Amino acid sequence: MPKSDPIIERLKILAQGARFDASCASDQGGGLTFNQRRKDVSRYIYHSWTENGRCVPILKVLLTNYCIYDCAYCHNRRSNDIERSSFAPEELASVTFELYKKGKIEGLFLSSGVIKSSDYTMEMMLRTLELLRKTYEFKGYIHCKILPATDELLIERIGRLSDRISVNIELPSEESLKYLAPEKDRDKIIRPVIRIAELIRKYNDENRRFGSTLRFSPSGQSTQIIVGATNDTDLKMLLLSDYLYKKLNMSRVYYSAYVPVNQDKRLPRISEPPLRREHRLYQADWLIRDYGFDILEIVNEERPDLYVELDPKTVWALENICRFPVEINRAEYEELIRIPGVGKRTAKKIISLRKAHSITEEDIKRLRLPLKKMRHFITIGGRYKGEKLDSLYIKERLLGVKGYRQLTFGFDKEDIKDNIIASNTGEF
Ligand code: SF4
Repeated sequence: MPKSDPIIERLKILAQGARFDASCASDQGGGLTFNQRRKDVSRYIYHSWTENGRCVPILKVLLTNYCIYDCAYCHNRRSNDIERSSFAPEELASVTFELYKKGKIEGLFLSSGVIKSSDYTMEMMLRTLELLRKTYEFKGYIHCKILPATDELLIERIGRLSDRISVNIELPSEESLKYLAPEKDRDKIIRPVIRIAELIRKYNDENRRFGSTLRFSPSGQSTQIIVGATNDTDLKMLLLSDYLYKKLNMSRVYYSAYVPVNQDKRLPRISEPPLRREHRLYQADWLIRDYGFDILEIVNEERPDLYVELDPKTVWALENICRFPVEINRAEYEELIRIPGVGKRTAKKIISLRKAHSITEEDIKRLRLPLKKMRHFITIGGRYKGEKLDSLYIKERLLGVKGYRQLTFGFDKEDIKDNIIASNTGEF
């Protein structure tokens, strides 16, 4: 038997430990088949999408999977009997740079369990980044996790070396945190988020005013919220996200369907992660951030959770059927983007085409718009394209339409890809 490389063995354990962190928008398998992944180090490489839509292979890894905390939902929690390992900063910097030099990765996502204290662990993460940036002159992308209660100076030094930093809020309410992670303090989680927002603002201001080019997390900060580990409603999660986007200038909130990895009586008994709910949250998040919807148009105290069977824009349209049908040849841009099936790109195409001639049904088909879905909500040249402008009737039709049902309920590989694209562009 050939002797296995101890560094690769550790990489295997610590990359496994990082796989549940969704806050770097990565896929879950390097875009490779299982057999391809088995063959070499590619199995530890994920693909992450940058803000401008570029797909970047990254090494997603923990510095250590030892942890002093015992969060109920976490694979790496103290009480779990799992294989434990750690990298020294020198080892992790070296292995990262080797992969980078060979062209296997373009970036690093570095997270960690907590050993001794947050600051002690973050010092080691900082050392890793310093070695990479200063000794190896690593020019790749770095996303570094900031642990709860990290010292402000450490946050600043790490942010100076990273492209993006993130603090995982994980649980959307104080009650949930007390229930599933009682050793953690909500205030100590939120404080670094606030400090990062202040530092991003400060660096941006100084760069603008004095023309300097000092870097501090230029891609902003992100966070992750776990969906379905507690009974927190979608309304609560969306209100939290709204606060983070508006008050703390968060670049992105990632919703991560709870994956049952532990036996713990405090956790819900589910057989599979609530992926459909996660997807609907992304769609709702997009409508609020980019389409001008108010949270309360989508969820409210009476109906605090999103429907999983239908996307939130369609649900809104059905609840506001008096605003339809919309005449495709006359509607303003703001009206067009509220039609189910019409995204921003499509609305712009419709408006541009209208300048040349009146839109016909053939144009809709040529633009490859989802006429089956749209037709219930539009007129083309004054003619209603559905059968009956009645929300219950339309809802039943939509839930029964072949293809629409598949996209909504099916979660095979292609559907997930489509859903991710839709979630990221709002074209739904
Ligand atoms: S602090 Fe982080 S790594 Fe440690 S148990 Fe909690 S979630 Fe897991």
